[in-house]
Amino acid sequence: MDIQSITLRLIESPLKIPFITHLETVTKRQAIIIEAKDSDGISGFGEADPFSSPWYSGETIVTCWHALLDFLVPMTLQQRISDPSGFDQLLGSVRGNNMAKSGLGQAIWDLYARQKGVYIGKLFGSERKKVTAGAVIAAKDPKEAVEQIQRYSEAGYKRYKIKISRQNDLNLLSAIRQHFPDGELMADANSSYSIQDMDHLKGLDSFGLQMIEQPFAYNDLVDHAYLQAEIKTPVCLDESIASFQDARAALALGSCKIINIKMARVGGWSEAVRIHDLCLKEQLPVWCGGMIEFGVAKAHSIALASLKGFAMPGDLFASSRYWEEEIVEPEIIVDHGFVRVPDQPGMGFTVNRKNLEKLTVNETTIRWNESRPQ
Ligand SMILES: [Mg+2]
Repeated sequence: MDIQSITLRLIESPLKIPFITHLETVTKRQAIIIEAKDSDGISGFGEADPFSSPWYSGETIVTCWHALLDFLVPMTLQQRISDPSGFDQLLGSVRGNNMAKSGLGQAIWDLYARQKGVYIGKLFGSERKKVTAGAVIAAKDPKEAVEQIQRYSEAGYKRYKIKISRQNDLNLLSAIRQHFPDGELMADANSSYSIQDMDHLKGLDSFGLQMIEQPFAYNDLVDHAYLQAEIKTPVCLDESIASFQDARAALALGSCKIINIKMARVGGWSEAVRIHDLCLKEQLPVWCGGMIEFGVAKAHSIALASLKGFAMPGDLFASSRYWEEEIVEPEIIVDHGFVRVPDQPGMGFTVNRKNLEKLTVNETTIRWNESRPQ
């Protein structure tokens, strides 16, 4: 590899339908698209997609841009890395900023896979030809939630993840179970509960949920372990698992029975695969979570979800769900509840530069010779 320049593009698009959680209603999404260009003219693409405010993670679009522009990109160019493993070593010296690292790492892995002429998933042992789609239901009331599930079910989705909170859980889940007694349901609390809610959470066992995701705080592995010992519903951890070490700690403590692996949250491809391999060895089911991302990050997620251990449906939805126009080609579609895993080199999709340009609101390119220490 001989990376000559890295371009950061801040993109922005309204969501076709708002994404409602108890912490924020997201109506417009931003992301940073990262293009790493080699001297052979080949480009690799990655996407960093923290939210605009720090409700999900400490990173935001602004901090992510800063971390990339002022630290991660100059380090990458100065070091003249010859392969992606050199990139991983390089980033070991920077703390946190996982979403920035993940987006930049995606671009480098995509470039590397394109240069090798292989599908990126194959570099990590991809086995599946298709992955199961799962829908996220983020609705303002039970009626809207039921309508959303109805629409998704007609489109063939297999699993529904309901965004719940301490205030709306019983109303939402009762109404949904009434209409879909046998549907594959799970609930995502985004840390809406505390240990004081233990008895209330035990009551949710009656809804037959596949799992409850992240009921307690992002740094609360101990209370999650107490909860898991008390409830039948498997606890799934999302925000709590920001690294391989977090996954090891959760397993050792018995804090969960399922892990949601998001490449963005754990800092990129290598860490996501390490967590996947650990869980496979320990027979802990994993699935691939989403960030309401654009097509580049979704392409990488599809590749990740095609690894052997991802036996449960992920947050993988069709491009048309949230976007009027997608930035990759072909558009990502859900067919009879599945997303096909591509086999073309790199991330398996091509960036639609015209659409990318249309969504771009800020752009900067850092070149190798400009990033050398003065
Ligand atoms: Mg979650």
